[in-house]
Amino acid sequence: AFDVLVVGGGPAGSAAAIYAARKGIRTGVAAERFGGQVLDTMAIENFVSVGYTEGPKLATALEQHVKDYDVDIMNLQRAEKLLPATEAGGLIELQLANGATLKSKTVILSTGARWRQMGVPGEDEYRNKGVAYCPHCDGPLFKGKRVAVIGGGNSGVEAAIDLAGITSHVTLVEFDSKLRADDVLQRKLRSLPNVDIIVSALSTEVLGDGQKVSGLVYKDRVDGVMHTLELEGIFVQIGLLPNTEWLKGTLELSPRGEIVIDERGQTSLPGVFAAGDATTVPYKQIVIAMGAGSTAALSAFDHLIRSPLL
Ligand code: FAD
Repeated sequence: AFDVLVVGGGPAGSAAAIYAARKGIRTGVAAERFGGQVLDTMAIENFVSVGYTEGPKLATALEQHVKDYDVDIMNLQRAEKLLPATEAGGLIELQLANGATLKSKTVILSTGARWRQMGVPGEDEYRNKGVAYCPHCDGPLFKGKRVAVIGGGNSGVEAAIDLAGITSHVTLVEFDSKLRADDVLQRKLRSLPNVDIIVSALSTEVLGDGQKVSGLVYKDRVDGVMHTLELEGIFVQIGLLPNTEWLKGTLELSPRGEIVIDERGQTSLPGVFAAGDATTVPYKQIVIAMGAGSTAALSAFDHLIRSPLL
């Protein structure tokens, strides 16, 4: 059995594996796709102390750093079920999609999240070429340009306020007839001179010139008329979905499906810790996920030395 079994191989899982392995305890990582969301990222300019890097390069560096240690990496393995220990101090089981079962004294869940997509023509084609999902990450790439934000919930309105300070113009596009964001955010948004708000609008297509985004087509849901916005960027803010469906009913999840953790990364199950975008941690970023993964691993080690397990 493992001392620490990490589920997920993104920034959080990689950091957890490195911190655990450095304690000289038996560490494993099971990941559906080692590297995680970083693999889908182009420019990364906020990985503190590294002015510029690219996702695939960072993903390779993550894997290499984990491999520097005695860590059992099980890549391309999807976890399907977590079985808590049946007695205090017992082993936790993880069932994989391939039928195998892994056993461990502690588990760190770091399965990350995925952005909900609009699902319209052009969105995939122009991903990272004008279609973006993370204003903290990609906002500065659109300095002085025109952008749209899709979604009028808190994250969409926050993104629009943030982007209004960087870009030349922001159009907020909401499907519903009104915004759902908190009043204080809506008031702030409406006070900005370079923001337009369009409600009752169904986004139907991302336009581009073959290289990058050039516009957004939407349908007015009241009169059915199609419109085209000319712009250079589209930030899709219609939800971040944690990869935790498989954990439903096993441990405490927030109403959004995030794994509820305390400041040590402890979940509602003894011996089970969690880190990164899959959890209730505020702000979903690479450096934050790495810090949280390290915290979870140190907490798992602390749990082991306080119990008869180690
Ligand atoms: P993830 O990176 O999502 O990794 C999750 C891991 O779990 C993966 O290995 C996945 O395969 C695995 N997994 C999922 N389900 C299972 C399962 N059931 N069983 C086994 N394994 C599973 N952040 C920044 O700080 N700067 C940026 O510039 C930046 N740009 C971004 C650009 C894009 C396009 C995207 C999508 C995100 C960007 N982010 C950026 C956000 C950043 O990538 C995430 O905050 C970070 O990757 C979260 O790390 P994580 O380890 O929690 O999860």
